[in-house]
Amino acid sequence: MKIAFVGLGNMGSGMCLNLVKAGFDVTAFDLNSEAMKAITAQRGKTASSLHECVTGANTVVTMLPAGRHVLDVYFGENGLTKQLAQSALLIDCSTIAVDDARRASSLAAEGGFAMVDAPVSGGVAAARAGSLTFMVGGAEGAFDRARPVLEAMGQNIVYAGASGNGQVAKIANNMLLGVSMIATSEAFNLAERLGLDAQTFFDIASTASGQNWSMTSYCQAPGPVPTAPSNNAYKPGFAVDMMLKDLKLASEAATSCDASTTLGDMAHDIYQSLSADGFGDLDFSGIMRRIEGDI
Ligand code: NAD
Repeated sequence: MKIAFVGLGNMGSGMCLNLVKAGFDVTAFDLNSEAMKAITAQRGKTASSLHECVTGANTVVTMLPAGRHVLDVYFGENGLTKQLAQSALLIDCSTIAVDDARRASSLAAEGGFAMVDAPVSGGVAAARAGSLTFMVGGAEGAFDRARPVLEAMGQNIVYAGASGNGQVAKIANNMLLGVSMIATSEAFNLAERLGLDAQTFFDIASTASGQNWSMTSYCQAPGPVPTAPSNNAYKPGFAVDMMLKDLKLASEAATSCDASTTLGDMAHDIYQSLSADGFGDLDFSGIMRRIEGDI
């Protein structure tokens, strides 16, 4: 299998290196030449253009910022589908709008390509460690072809059904995460103000009905979970601006299908105000500091 990997940012560089480590023949490309140094430093191959990157490839993996980049890289004027053999498999791991993913998949099908949307859960550390979760939308045959590539970059590979369903799972999950992060921060703050220390509240709530991932794996109050960003000055982790992006995608998707997401929309507004006040680079659990009145 000859893989072209496009987008070597915070996530893509670690993912690409895991494909190289797994023994795939990978050629990588990023518009930013600095980003390619992480790959060449580990003896990975890089290309000086998108065209060179995809020449001879039968599989493409992309990890790009947003839907417009994905549509442009695949289907734009100099898009890579113009240079690829039609039997090639396209795997987009970026987080993009459900509509953009479905549009990309139908443009790919028109050109005779199989495509899956395979967004990830897990941050930069999981990308480096090869322990990401992939949520995959697309035809089952395309999923079967993508599986060995995804397995080299992740631990859990979950088939979500038709094209775009990977993105649906991603934004619905992250909307729930954003809401539960805020709600759990409010609970810690309330308990502390009423005289309960964070560790005592954690010991009770983490085994009671309020238990959730944002508390038990990523605790927003410093102390109970030593590896959480709250013990590292709320450095990301997963930045406020990344959560804001996902909440925006969720709100837009909800509007498009007339779904009620009152709390998701409130979470969007709360993270937007944190970002507008200059805290976009803080870990998203830093919402705890705002609720405590610190920032
Ligand atoms: P990033 O901005 O660090 O990396 C994106 C890279 O794409 C950049 O290096 C940029 O130069 C490159 N790029 C942009 N346009 C290009 C083009 N036309 N051709 C080639 N390269 C191009 O972003 P990231 O943090 O790596 O995130 C990538 C995707 O993963 C996003 O969709 C994000 O929402 C999603 N995601 C990120 C995280 C995270 O914790 N960072 C977690 C889960 C999902």
